[in-house]
Amino acid sequence: MMEKLSANEYDLNYSSVLERFNNAVLKSPLEKKDIILLAATKTVDVDTINYAVQNGISYIGENKVQELLSKHGKTNAPHNHFIGHLQTNKVKDIIDKVEMIQSVDSLKLAKEISKQAQKHGICMDILLEVNIGGEESKWGFKPEETENAVSEISKLGGVHIFGLMTIPPICETKEENRKYFQKMYKLFIDIGAKKIDNSSMNILSMGMSDDFDIAIEEGANLVRVGTALFGKRNYNI
Ligand SMILES: *Cc1c(COP(=O)(O)O)cnc(C)c1O
Repeated sequence: MMEKLSANEYDLNYSSVLERFNNAVLKSPLEKKDIILLAATKTVDVDTINYAVQNGISYIGENKVQELLSKHGKTNAPHNHFIGHLQTNKVKDIIDKVEMIQSVDSLKLAKEISKQAQKHGICMDILLEVNIGGEESKWGFKPEETENAVSEISKLGGVHIFGLMTIPPICETKEENRKYFQKMYKLFIDIGAKKIDNSSMNILSMGMSDDFDIAIEEGANLVRVGTALFGKRNYNI
């Protein structure tokens, strides 16, 4: 775990994130400008998370199952999302502990979520993760196969596709990501226009600490921010 952040440090980080966020929202192309600031809380201790929640954060996201389970029941955010790569054999561990799984990156994973959700008598909201840079090493659907994936997965019971999520390639400058965000927004709009049953293109989740303002300018309505809120941390826990 990281060193505990002081309340004062968090307050300063949060206000500078909010300033960037609010400026970017003014430039959002979306008609409905209700844009979600989700705190990516990996390695962040429970007290710090709860402090953030008391002070305005209502969406949090974890990217590892074990860490999510260790904090479950101790954090008090009203909205809990899973945002990391999820192995199919771990779906059962989190199915009743999150309200959305943002990182559905294969048909196999979607089928397992469908199965476990039906077992629990619930409907899980999901986003499909798109590998927008077409990188060999990345999880997610290729842009050209995403529409077909939406069609297939929308036929499964126990899941509702709510939109798309992406982690673009690591670029030298944050401006370089703009073209990937533009590509994602186009895909989001195009698939939404198809009005595929049991799917809605409501959420476009893209943008992290370095580039969330650019993502919002290009149409994101959910950004996932960690470092800019909580400081640099050791990712290898
Ligand atoms: C850690 C993480 C983020 C936040 O990244 P920062 O650069 O720390 O803001 C966003 N999305 C996912 C999936 C993550 O794992």
